Amino acid sequence: MSEKKVIVVFGATGAQGGSVARALLKDPAFAVRAVTRDTTKPAAVELAGLGAQLVKVDLASQAEVEAALKGVYGTFLVTNFWEHFDKSKEVQQGKMVADLAKKLGLKHVVYSGLENVNRITGGKLTVLHFDGKGEVEEYFRTISVPMTSVRLPFYFENFISFFKPTKTGPDTYSVGLPMGDVPMDGMSVADLGPVVLSILKSREEFVGKDIGLSADRLTVVQYSEVMTRCLGKTFTDGKIPVEVYEKLDFSGAKEMANMFRFYHMNPDRDLALTRRLNPQVQSLEQWLKKNADAFKDL
Ligand code: NAP
Repeated sequence: MSEKKVIVVFGATGAQGGSVARALLKDPAFAVRAVTRDTTKPAAVELAGLGAQLVKVDLASQAEVEAALKGVYGTFLVTNFWEHFDKSKEVQQGKMVADLAKKLGLKHVVYSGLENVNRITGGKLTVLHFDGKGEVEEYFRTISVPMTSVRLPFYFENFISFFKPTKTGPDTYSVGLPMGDVPMDGMSVADLGPVVLSILKSREEFVGKDIGLSADRLTVVQYSEVMTRCLGKTFTDGKIPVEVYEKLDFSGAKEMANMFRFYHMNPDRDLALTRRLNPQVQSLEQWLKKNADAFKDL
């Protein structure tokens, strides 16, 4: 145990961190220190059962984060914009971890980043939950912390949560992604863990890289066709224009619309590298077949 490399996994009770913690726990080279604000919640208790060391840490507390990071080899960092919708908070949390990684001499940080869309577009487009992560990526580089950024695409899991297809009739559904005819990258967030494990195992190759992940790149018509083939119901492109989408009545509609505007710009996502990092990465079709039950009660 003492020879294992300890990795502090932020967001360990969530989708990204949970996948990363599970993958690392299966590998004898690593030990996991799992971060949560509540060590009694079921997701935390489950990780402890798999061998993780739980640490009660709030990203709001620098002292708690520093205590968790002391003496470890590396960390996986994900911050959750949707908890507060506040870019400055996400930037502050990310930079604080970067500063501590520098101070404590961590050997490798894998950061769940995204593009600084505002900078890339010269201020024409703002996507707060991307821009903040992009600023944090840049900060890690500026202060020379050995960091690899993984940029996740649209999770397939969004189709059973926030982006559930809408029922339009008996057994017919509309897929409401304002992408027009432009293909959009996607992957199962459950497939992130082995990707991060591969990156940690090949530090020399990946430090300093920003890796755009993707398991499938499909148009909305194609997403709908694969769903129809796999789920025994009929799915069609809802053909919602982004100008209509941004006026929908939910908080974050404008933010999401701007994300889709950025997706229209064809961000750099590398299907071949994703598959090299996780040879078991699931296509949409494989993921739908495995998760068909979750679509039974749409
Ligand atoms: P999630 O499943 O909702 O989990 C959120 C995690 O963050 C939980 O483990 C939670 O831990 C932890 N957390 C939140 N606030 C914290 C704090 N103050 N201190 C310590 N831990 C805290 O989220 P996720 O999907 O893994 O990650 C969300 C991020 O993914 C967002 O920033 C989003 O922009 C990004 N993303 C999403 C997609 C997508 O398609 N959905 C694609 C690319 C990127 P506890 O509650 O246990 O403390």
